[in-house]
Amino acid sequence: MNLILFGAPGAGKGTQRGSLIDTYQIPAIATGDMLRAQRRAGTALGDQVTSYMDRGELVPDALMIDMIKERLQEPDARTGFILDGFPRTVAQAEALDATLDQLRRRVDAVIYLRVSRQVLIDRLSHRYSCRSCDAVYNFTPKQALEVPRCTVDGGELYQRPDDKPEIVAHRIDVFLKHTAPLIDYYTTQHKLENIDGQMSVEDVRADITRRLSALKKGAGSR
Ligand code: ADP
Repeated sequence: MNLILFGAPGAGKGTQRGSLIDTYQIPAIATGDMLRAQRRAGTALGDQVTSYMDRGELVPDALMIDMIKERLQEPDARTGFILDGFPRTVAQAEALDATLDQLRRRVDAVIYLRVSRQVLIDRLSHRYSCRSCDAVYNFTPKQALEVPRCTVDGGELYQRPDDKPEIVAHRIDVFLKHTAPLIDYYTTQHKLENIDGQMSVEDVRADITRRLSALKKGAGSR
């Protein structure tokens, strides 16, 4: 399966990604996590992208496209992948299609997690991330008074600079302007699975599983 997890910041892509990895045994390729890893490692790419990310702007297409082209050709991605955070512009989607074409592969489905602006803002303003592994936690304001350590690797939890309220609002605007046009792009390709991302985590997971099973059956009977 070659899947794209699609939705605004805070839509729940990272949360759903774990169960997809387990179910389909394919790697997740999360561009935000990859960029943050570059920053932690202090690479030239990491330095280049820092100001875009902290301001909630998109990193230039050319950088992102090169990074993804390389990543898709690594051995673990040969049996499938779950893209999270890419594509974010029509140019990125076109480059992805061209790259997959060359590899004689294609996107099977785009899972669009639909969430209202107010819910996105509420979720992101209570979001904490692990400094070392990027695991994400949502705390109530009361819980946030005493932030624990990461349960995955014991790392320090912090509020990402781009999860601050002013930047969150801007990221949602950037999504609506540059990324939302991909809804039409993938609808035209008959690949969009439009899912209510405001249901419980379990219900969203069940809906994704049901739709992907239906797709697999359809592909098998062709
Ligand atoms: P979220 O899904 O919460 O918005 P991510 O971790 O996916 O956050 O991305 C964080 C930031 O990394 C983005 O705001 C952007 O600056 C940069 N980024 C990640 N993926 C892309 C992409 N495909 N194109 C451009 N910029 C990207």
